[in-house]
Amino acid sequence: MNFKTKAVVLRCRSCSEDRKYLSLLTLDSGILNVLFKIRGSITKSVYCNVYVAGFYEFNLFRGRFGIIVDSVENIEQFFKLRYSPIRFALSQYFCELSYFLGLSGRNLSRHLKLLLNAIWLLEKGCLCCEFIKFVFELKLLSISGYMPNLVCCKFCCSYENDVMFFCARQGFLVCADCANKNNKMAGLVELSKASLYAMRYVVYKEDRHIFKFKLDKKYLMFLSNLVENMVLLYLEKDIITLKIYKELVEGV
Ligand SMILES: [Zn+2]
Repeated sequence: MNFKTKAVVLRCRSCSEDRKYLSLLTLDSGILNVLFKIRGSITKSVYCNVYVAGFYEFNLFRGRFGIIVDSVENIEQFFKLRYSPIRFALSQYFCELSYFLGLSGRNLSRHLKLLLNAIWLLEKGCLCCEFIKFVFELKLLSISGYMPNLVCCKFCCSYENDVMFFCARQGFLVCADCANKNNKMAGLVELSKASLYAMRYVVYKEDRHIFKFKLDKKYLMFLSNLVENMVLLYLEKDIITLKIYKELVEGV
């Protein structure tokens, strides 16, 4: 059976010179693992021009032994990302993270649009990488089923306090009074009002607006580390593309 779908390539694993497996985040069929090999309309040139983080229209054949790519057309390859090794590395991390979180199967069409938006912003180059990374990671965690509860203190329901704490492992807020009363200070990090506002904005705002706010650099670096820590706690594994991105940033 043949079917068409639009998809971003999340992963690519070569088996030999003329065949590889692609993991696709599709607009309408979730995550698909497909065999891509040189055959028919897929010439060597077409084969070599399909990249991770590229957006394509695939014509796929579903057979007894899996799904094979029959033909592929380029929609947007975000080629200018290659002019910046750091932005390119971050786009590869977004794709790897999308693969792991996409396995939850939740909100995949929103997930695809968020990923495309983040890659497009990376290529455009008008927002700093750490800002795009923080917003993308937090929103992706939220729509993939790991949404932190940022509405109010878990114990007394106060919405705002001079000092609020956040548990990155379990994703809840605690006000200073309740943190003291419940002796639950271990593992909590203090959130400034600006940091809490930024996290609430990203988690609860409509998807199309989430990159439209400004954040002071001192809060951004704190939040970037905090949300990255949340990602690693949830996944419980190292992400190679994240390591590469961080090595490049630290080497600048
Ligand atoms: Zn409280």
